Amino acid sequence: MTVQAQILDLMNQLKDDFHSTIVLITHNLGVVSQMTSKVAVMYLGEIVEFADTRDLFHEPMHPYSVGLLNSVPVLGRKGQKILIPIPGMVPTPTEIIPGCPFQPRCDKAMSICRERQPNLLEHKPGRLVACWLYEDETI
Ligand code: SF4
Repeated sequence: MTVQAQILDLMNQLKDDFHSTIVLITHNLGVVSQMTSKVAVMYLGEIVEFADTRDLFHEPMHPYSVGLLNSVPVLGRKGQKILIPIPGMVPTPTEIIPGCPFQPRCDKAMSICRERQPNLLEHKPGRLVACWLYEDETI
């Protein structure tokens, strides 16, 4: 953790020194919350949600984003388990999933989810989600 903090500090310093942008690819949501201003959540190689980091952590929209945030252990989480895993497994690369790639693991899946893959569409200013749940809320 100490080395990680030192590396993240160095990256921030270099970003400022060179007036540049850093693209981080990570599963570490703590690093995401600490280091980024915008997040693209990816599932099976595709972006399923794009948002300001603060908005994503406060109000995730895509069920996979919700699952990711729920699967972070939170000590003292009231009335719930400490860790809520996403059900199912990531499919093998050769497995063909009809419709939405997340549908076998999604507790919100509807019949359309098994038939057609949703596009990544803007549902709020600067907020893009690929999910049939928000079909009527596109701007
Ligand atoms: S499109 Fe359907 S299956 Fe896919 S994440 Fe949204 S609700 Fe779940």
